[in-house]
Amino acid sequence: MKIMKCSNCGMEFNSNYCPNCGKAAGVEPSQTAEQSTATKAANVKNNEWNGLAIAGFVLSLLGFNIVALVLSIVGLCQIKKNGGQGQGFAIAGIVVAAVTIFTTFAIGIGAFIVSLFAAAAGL
Ligand SMILES: [Zn+2]
Repeated sequence: MKIMKCSNCGMEFNSNYCPNCGKAAGVEPSQTAEQSTATKAANVKNNEWNGLAIAGFVLSLLGFNIVALVLSIVGLCQIKKNGGQGQGFAIAGIVVAAVTIFTTFAIGIGAFIVSLFAAAAGL
């Protein structure tokens, strides 16, 4: 077997691998790193339903609008970050909760203004 010179550390040796740094003789760096990241990306795909998104949507329909808004936003963040199903439910929950909170708020302000006018008019 002929004497090889390691292209990584310069050590001379006569086997297939450098005894000093372990680099394979005469072999270019492999693409295994690239392949393993592609495999990881495929494994990350998540098809689980997000419980918070569904709970947020259901609660928004039942009128628990502030709790529903919080759960839907947290659920949507989890889906954006980790994947999974239920993004439509999360967005619907946020919209329904926001609309009902706004409506409740508007009715409250309206009632307050009406009562002010009523008091001013001496009713
Ligand atoms: Zn070496």
